[in-house]
Amino acid sequence: MRALYFDGSTARLVERPEPQPPDGWCIVRPRVAGICNTDLEILRGYMAFVGVLGHELVGTVVRGPDAWIGKRVVADINFACGHCSACERGLGRHCALRTVMGIAGAQGAFADSVPVPVCNLHEVPASVTDEDAAFCEPLAAAFEILEQVHVHARTRAIVLGDGKLGLLVAQVLHAAGADLIAVGKHPQKLAILERRGLCTCSLDALGDRRAELVVEATGAASGFEQALRCVTPRGTIVLKSTVADPINLHLSRIVVDEVSVVGSRCGLFQPALRALAAGAVDVASLVSHVIPFDRAEEALRLAAERGAMKVLLSMR
Ligand SMILES: [Zn+2]
Ligand SMILES: [Zn+2]
Repeated sequence: MRALYFDGSTARLVERPEPQPPDGWCIVRPRVAGICNTDLEILRGYMAFVGVLGHELVGTVVRGPDAWIGKRVVADINFACGHCSACERGLGRHCALRTVMGIAGAQGAFADSVPVPVCNLHEVPASVTDEDAAFCEPLAAAFEILEQVHVHARTRAIVLGDGKLGLLVAQVLHAAGADLIAVGKHPQKLAILERRGLCTCSLDALGDRRAELVVEATGAASGFEQALRCVTPRGTIVLKSTVADPINLHLSRIVVDEVSVVGSRCGLFQPALRALAAGAVDVASLVSHVIPFDRAEEALRLAAERGAMKVLLSMR
C-alpha cells in the first residue's frame, strides 16, 4: 500500500506492507484525510512519533465484521484498552494504555489501508460529504468544550485565534447559544464566521472587553497571557493550544480573580457528526486545497505555509 511515512526526519510517500488487523479491528480505506497542525508538529518532533502520519479521515470499511463492510465511517483516534479505570468511566480518550492513530504507537490515516478497532467506528450519515466528514475529529475536539464547561444562552465568550480550531470552536459555541466575539488576525478567516452571523474583531479592537468564558486557540505561547487579560473574575479559560515550548507565567492573577483553567483536547464524535448532518457548522469554507494522495508530500508543504487553511488528501 501507499503510505506517507515519517522516519523521524523526513515524511515521504512510500510503499509499505498491508497492515494485518488483530481480532476486533478492521481495515478502513480512506476516501479523504485532513492534514492537521498536529501532523506538522510531529514533523518537528512532537510525541517523538515515527510511522505513518495522519488521524483525520473518512473512509470505507474493507475488512472486518460483515455488518461494517462497505460502510462509510469516521474513527475515534484514541485506541483504548477497554478495561482500565479510565475506560470503565467511559473516558477511553484518557486511557493510560491507549495508542493514538498517527500520533502515538498506532499507524496513521495517510495510507491506502488503516487498521482501526471496530468499537472506534462511527457510520457517516449519507447527507454528509466526504470533505465535511473529514472534519469530524477536529470538530469533536471543539465540542469537547461543551462536555467540560456549562455553556448557556447568556454565556458571554471570547474565542482567541482564527486558525482552523478557533473557527470550529467559535461556531460550536455560537450554535450552543453563547454570546461571543471571535478574535483573530486574518480578515478572510474571520469573514467565514461573519457570514454565519458571528461577531469578530482584531485583538486591538477587542480593547478591554472581558468575558466569563475565554477559549485560547491561538496556537501561540502568548495566548494564555492574553486569555488571562480578558477573562472576568470567577471566569473560565479553556486551553486548546498544545504549545510544545514551556512558558513563564505569573499565577497570582488566577488566584486573585479565582479563574478556572480547563485543558481541553479530543472529544466525542457523535455531537460532531450530528452538527455536520444538520449543517450547524460550516467546515467547507475552511478547506483551501483537496490534493490527490499521490501528491501527499506537496500537500504537507502547502499545509505548513503561513496562514494555510485545511489541506485535504483525496484517496478516492
Ligand atoms: Zn487533528
Ligand atoms: Zn484503558
